[in-house]
Amino acid sequence: MTRISDVLAAGRCFSVELWPPRSTAAEERLEVALKDLWPLAPSFTSITYGAGGSTRERTHDLVIRLLRDSPAPPMAHLTCMAHTEADLRSILVRYRDEGVENVLALRGDPPLNATEDLPEGDLEYALELVELAKSVGNFCVAVAAHPEGHPRSPDIGTDRMHLAEKLRVADFAITQFFFRVESYLDLVEALRKMGVDKPVLPGIMPITNVRTVSRMAELSGTQVPSKIAERIEAVADRPQEVHRIGVEIASEIGNRLLAEGAPGLHFYTMNSALATREVYSNLGLDRLRGTDDISTSRSAGGMSEGETCK
Ligand SMILES: Cc1cc2nc3c(=O)[nH]c(=O)nc-3n(C[C@H](O)[C@H](O)[C@H](O)COP(=O)(O)OP(=O)(O)OC[C@H]3O[C@@H](n4cnc5c(N)ncnc54)[C@H](O)[C@@H]3O)c2cc1C
Repeated sequence: MTRISDVLAAGRCFSVELWPPRSTAAEERLEVALKDLWPLAPSFTSITYGAGGSTRERTHDLVIRLLRDSPAPPMAHLTCMAHTEADLRSILVRYRDEGVENVLALRGDPPLNATEDLPEGDLEYALELVELAKSVGNFCVAVAAHPEGHPRSPDIGTDRMHLAEKLRVADFAITQFFFRVESYLDLVEALRKMGVDKPVLPGIMPITNVRTVSRMAELSGTQVPSKIAERIEAVADRPQEVHRIGVEIASEIGNRLLAEGAPGLHFYTMNSALATREVYSNLGLDRLRGTDDISTSRSAGGMSEGETCK
């Protein structure tokens, strides 16, 4: 069973996001992370795509490698920004022909360090990519959800309405990371009122690096509640304490989400297994095994300076 919609229908999903490495050192870190993530038996992996195609081949190669060699089905991210429809179609046909069954259809964001605007693409919104993917193959197609609204949305109601339109065609959604559980619950309730009950998998990102999280939260429009910001700021000059408090906060959020009935958790791993493993352990997720070597991956699995997820 490798369609993620089937996996979700069978029970809760615990999944991990990875990005394709762009250097030999990053490849080595990814190998360490994968070795440490497999004992968690993730329900699926999702592999990011650089908007405009900056990781086109690297995303493809990692997806195919995981499809062939890993115990969890991979989901290929694909973004429509700056691509022609013909390009997107050919990427989807290639995945279909190689047996990939899961695609996350996105509009895309330019890389954090982009200095120039990307050219216009043929498709404007992710919904058009969902429709294209469904026309190319029998893909299970996921979409992005933004619990606090996408920064480009004029208001939260309009944001929820466009999400509902996407989800009527797609199979499930994964959210941007967030820190206010109420935002997620409100989103699910709003969708339900619009007659949409497809699963919405909440995205969790343990804060392990203050600077990266602030920048990503700013770009994605995610609020960091003052109580959480204060806990992190109190230890901001001690990286190990930031990590410990970040894992503590993510565990509290995960615990509450599961208690509220979320269909699982999607971990933004930043290509490092450590924080995900610790949250897993704190939540008592029963499939956790082999935690005794966590300390050995602490130095090898971390994100390097300047590395970003897209
Ligand atoms: C789980 C997850 C994974 C991600 N992975 C990646 C990745 O691999 N690579 C990457 O570059 N980015 C990634 N992103 C970021 C994402 O691409 C950005 O947040 C992007 O800015 C919006 O993408 P979207 O698919 O939600 O866009 P859309 O659904 O197209 O929405 C974008 C904006 O347009 C609005 N809108 C939608 N339809 C209409 C319409 N018909 N009329 C008017 N307005 C409309 C929406 O309300 C929203 O404000 C990811 C995000 C998430 C949550």
